[in-house]
Amino acid sequence: MNHSIVILPGDGIGHEVMAEVKKIIGWVQANTDMSFDIQEDHLGGAAIDAYGVPLADSTLEKCRKADAVLMGSVGGPKWDKVDYAIRPEAGLLKLRKELDLFANLRPAIVFDSLVDASTLKAEIVRGLDIMIVRELTGGVYFGEPRGIEDLGNGQKRGFNTQTYTTAEIERVGRVAFELARKRHNRVTSCEKANVMESGKLWREVITALHAAEYSDVTLNHMYADNCAMQLLRNPKQFDVIVTDNLFGDILSDEASMLTGSLGMLPSASLGAADANGRRNALYEPVHGSAPDIAGQGKANPLAAILSLAMALRYSFHRGDIAELIEWAVEDVLSAGIRTADIMADSCTPVGTAAMGDAVIARLAQQKANAA
Ligand code: NAD
Repeated sequence: MNHSIVILPGDGIGHEVMAEVKKIIGWVQANTDMSFDIQEDHLGGAAIDAYGVPLADSTLEKCRKADAVLMGSVGGPKWDKVDYAIRPEAGLLKLRKELDLFANLRPAIVFDSLVDASTLKAEIVRGLDIMIVRELTGGVYFGEPRGIEDLGNGQKRGFNTQTYTTAEIERVGRVAFELARKRHNRVTSCEKANVMESGKLWREVITALHAAEYSDVTLNHMYADNCAMQLLRNPKQFDVIVTDNLFGDILSDEASMLTGSLGMLPSASLGAADANGRRNALYEPVHGSAPDIAGQGKANPLAAILSLAMALRYSFHRGDIAELIEWAVEDVLSAGIRTADIMADSCTPVGTAAMGDAVIARLAQQKANAA
């Protein structure tokens, strides 16, 4: 059976990094039992240029039907002046919303050879492997009522509503517990139950879900502000962190920066699983379109390549091939092969294409060794 993939390179370095992802997919197709139906389309600024909107309905339909969507990055100065409602980033937000991608997975992994890229001491981050699960479609970013009202006395009031239902908390909690079972079996749930009713409900629902279905997983609760401190003090205490949209936004950025390099960070956004276990899914590097280096062949493609590994693991249930790709990335880094963003003393500088080729060379070598 062919797996269907939609590739949306987007804008700027999105094209460059996705070219390397396509090379890896080609290698997987030629050297394993997996095969793919691949379609490519526009998103963001490129879609504005091609279709007049940042996400065309026809593109959205393709993404709905696909087993996985792989995205590069969107945005850039060329579209700075377009109407706010159709800016490039609006295409990505609409895609996430329309596919109901409620669980955002952001791993923060420190590769041994990049341990010095972190701003924290090597002993604090060496071997770090955290997964942050952020609720992505609810909470204060979407809650109603919201707005800015005129108080009539020269004052205004800005307001947003933090809101979560039992079902919204349960479904993201389930993703976190399932992930923990495949990792180190520990979940830390973060909220502000001490000062927010939505946090109180969050804690109650996670506690009940744990007791009913996941009592084999170790669960602890932590206030989100304490979690922000603990991530800097002793990040290796965490396995899976599950939290809401607002706290997740901040904690996932903090955790990812423990690793020290934007060009290395993959992500996945998942929808609900149907009866066959299939879910809508979008995989993308955390970085943006990097207009300052776009078109120069300098971008680090490893975040995009590691996002493909996440797709293989979470959409195609091929953890074996995902691990092979992750091993190849680690081996390339150990050999001192580096793009400019992760360059270090006595390493070999390479561009985007050479980095992709180096990963493929490791994959080929591993296959030859296994034969
Ligand atoms: P950015 O992530 O594009 O770049 C920040 C810095 O990191 C830049 O100096 C860039 O050169 C560097 N960088 C980023 N990715 C890199 C890589 N793979 N290899 C080497 N260096 C890399 O963030 P920004 O400059 O704030 O935003 C630029 C554009 O991207 C904006 O239009 C913004 O809206 C958009 N953006 C898109 C996404 C997305 O598509 N998910 C995310 C963030 C920003």
